[in-house]
Amino acid sequence: MTSAYPSALDPTTTDVAWAAYTAAEGVPEIVEPAGRAAGCARCARTTAVMIPVGQVISRRFTGFESWTNLAGRRLCQVCVWLYRHRPLRTDAHIVTRDPVTLRSANPALLHQVLSTPVDADIAVIVPLRPGRKHLLPDARWGQVNVDDTSLTWTAADADRLQVMRRLRAHGFSETLLRDHSPAYPVLSRAAADQWPQIFDDWSRLDPWRQAGPWFDVGLRASR
Ligand SMILES: [Zn+2]
Repeated sequence: MTSAYPSALDPTTTDVAWAAYTAAEGVPEIVEPAGRAAGCARCARTTAVMIPVGQVISRRFTGFESWTNLAGRRLCQVCVWLYRHRPLRTDAHIVTRDPVTLRSANPALLHQVLSTPVDADIAVIVPLRPGRKHLLPDARWGQVNVDDTSLTWTAADADRLQVMRRLRAHGFSETLLRDHSPAYPVLSRAAADQWPQIFDDWSRLDPWRQAGPWFDVGLRASR
């Protein structure tokens, strides 16, 4: 499926959230805005159905940073869905813009997608503490979007994911993988001729050990 918008106006090319909505719910009807105050507080666009902000977000909501239209008092149907559709907050998702797709990602799919660099036509959403935060409203193309930040995912990260998976296959737990050297009780179960590879793999994960979110995403994608 390709987008139904003229390309220059197509919100799905710029806004991950709009692409996700379009893939899941269909193309929303955009209506001519009657001034900025009538537009959506988050995305500034106007759809056929608009709902007051206070009916959608709770009083404890803190995600206003990315809202582009603070004159707005309502949210469009796309942004209402973003905040109300609970699986978006609890499950990992993969969004693409050409074509427009949205997939819920189990560890196997997450692993598949993160086995190559994340390019500009894809956004990966990984709630590290499921349910705590809305990630899709702030998601960016070409990034892995996690609870408090967005990460690039390069070929080196894709390699580290394979390394992590190999080490897990030897029996190192998620906790042990964070240690600076391999735990002897697990190491001792591997054949001696595999030890050099294990030590080499272990040091290749060092950049991730010093970069928490990448490490956490790697764990999620290698379960
Ligand atoms: Zn909106």
